[in-house]
Amino acid sequence: MTFAAQILTLYPEMFPGPLGVSLAGRALAEGKWSCSPIQIRDFATDKHKSVDDTPAGGGAGMVMRADILAAAVDHAMAAQPGAPVFAMTPRGRPLTQALVRDIVAGPGVTILCGRFEGMDERLFDARPVVPLSIGDYILSGGETAAIVLLDACIRLLPGVMGAPSSGDVESFESGLLEYPHYTRPNLWEGRTIPEVLRSGDHAKIAAWRQRQAEDDTRLRRPDLWERHGDVRGQSPSGAQRQKKEKRE
Ligand code: SAH
Repeated sequence: MTFAAQILTLYPEMFPGPLGVSLAGRALAEGKWSCSPIQIRDFATDKHKSVDDTPAGGGAGMVMRADILAAAVDHAMAAQPGAPVFAMTPRGRPLTQALVRDIVAGPGVTILCGRFEGMDERLFDARPVVPLSIGDYILSGGETAAIVLLDACIRLLPGVMGAPSSGDVESFESGLLEYPHYTRPNLWEGRTIPEVLRSGDHAKIAAWRQRQAEDDTRLRRPDLWERHGDVRGQSPSGAQRQKKEKRE
C-alpha cells in the first residue's frame, strides 16, 4: 500500500526536496509513498491570488486567510478522506515518535504549511486540522517542518529501512535516548572502544547498553527521564536514582 502525503503549501517546488534522495527517495521511486504538493494559491478567489491579509488588531506581518486555507483543506480531505490533517505551527502539539507511529499506521497524511505570521485561528475550529510543532524554535515556513514529519514517517514504512529491527531500539522508542555507538578503528587518537563491546558477551553488552541509555537520558534529558520513571511507576528522583549514583 502506498502511504499518500499531500502537502498544502505556497512553495510546492520544495517537495520532495531532500526526501527525493537516499532512503526516502528510493521508497518514493518504488511507490512506497507518494508526494502530492498542492498550491494553496490555487484556492485564492481574487484576481491577485492573495492568500494573506493584515493581522486583526494590528502588528507586523501578514496572516494566512481562513477561507482560502479551508478551501485547500477541503480539497485535500476530499482527495484523501481517511488521512489526518496537520497544520505545522510552533503553537501546536509537540511531534513525538509515538505520534509518528500512529500516523504511519494509517493511509497517509495531509500537511498544511504556514508562512508569514501564521494562520487565521478560526481554521482550527472550523475544520478537523490538528496543530503540530516540531520544536521550540521558529522556522521561516512550515515546509521544512513538513519535511521533518514526512522523513520520520517514511523511514518506518514497511520495507523502507534495510534491517527490519533497526527501527526498534532507536532513541525515544523505549522512552530513553539510544546508547552510544562505536566502530573501527579500535584505537583512534589514543581513544579506545569500550572493552565490553569487544567482549563478544551479548548479555553483558546488552546490560552495558541499557545502563548507558539510562545514564545518558538522565543527564542529557531530565524531562524524558522523569517521564520514563512515571511510565515505570517509580520516581527516578527517588530510590532508583540514588542507587544509580552510588554505582558511578
Ligand atoms: N508568528 C508565529 C510563527 C510563524 S513562522 C508564531 O510566533 O507562532 C511561519 C510558519 O513557519 C508557521 O506558520 C509554521 O507553519 C512554520 N513554523 C515555524 N516554526 C515552526 C515549528 N517550530 N514547528 C512547526 N512549524 C513551524
